[in-house]
Amino acid sequence: MFTGKVALVTGGSRGIGLAIARALLERGAKVAITATSDATLQTGTAALEAVSEAAAVLPIRADVRRHDQVEQAIDTAVRHFGGLDVLVNNAGVGVFRTVADMSVEEWHRVIETNVNGVFYSCHAALPHLRARGGGWIISVSSLAGVNSFPEAAAYCASKAALNAFSESLMQEVRHDGIRVAYVMPGSVRTDFMGTPGQNDEWKLAPEDVAQVVVDLIAHPSRSLPSRVEIRPARPPKKG
Ligand code: NDP
Repeated sequence: MFTGKVALVTGGSRGIGLAIARALLERGAKVAITATSDATLQTGTAALEAVSEAAAVLPIRADVRRHDQVEQAIDTAVRHFGGLDVLVNNAGVGVFRTVADMSVEEWHRVIETNVNGVFYSCHAALPHLRARGGGWIISVSSLAGVNSFPEAAAYCASKAALNAFSESLMQEVRHDGIRVAYVMPGSVRTDFMGTPGQNDEWKLAPEDVAQVVVDLIAHPSRSLPSRVEIRPARPPKKG
């Protein structure tokens, strides 16, 4: 289905990014994944190579907070696979504390990863997507971007910024055949909030978000679903 397509998934070594990378590979794409740690890249790559040929997977250590590393990662993927068709901005972090208790460093970590990192990645990817005559930029946002809650000011602000950024970018590049969309999941069973436990079974699976991403890419080109909310079907009842 995506044979001949090349994708780069930031934060593709575990969690939602790994599920997205796997779904793309299973449909025939070639996929570069990035992450900051060699250990997660190694385990992620091994998991991906189990569902595809090893040559279709390219792990790259790159921190989205570093513009130079992001540019290098995208150039490496383009040189290795011959181009770029899909950028998935998935890498993201959360620090969940009150504003009073949050350190300046924690604030910067969230904003630099979830907002600056997306700008760096899009900025570096756009010339390559244009060179292919179009492509996709899909960002993993969060329902926290539209539903703010306490002890999450940096995270909610970062995802609201990502939503606004995506909507501006979508309007800038849609006439060039570049399709920009963002997905806002509710709670997903990953290590994002600590190791998931048995009480987390109601949450979305990473594969649920991956399904939305591949559906967006496969969507007929006449129309553009530019923002998608996905939430657990049966969360615990409140009260
Ligand atoms: P995980 O913590 O499970 O995975 C995060 C991934 O991003 C890892 O591959 C990690 O690898 C990588 N990463 C972290 N920081 C950086 C960085 N600076 N540069 C490059 N890669 C980085 O998180 P999830 O899979 O749960 O989350 C993925 C996205 O989904 C995030 O944007 C998150 O905000 C969003 N989301 C998550 C929800 C949830 O409930 N889990 C709900 C809604 C949205 P490494 O540690 O090696 O760098």
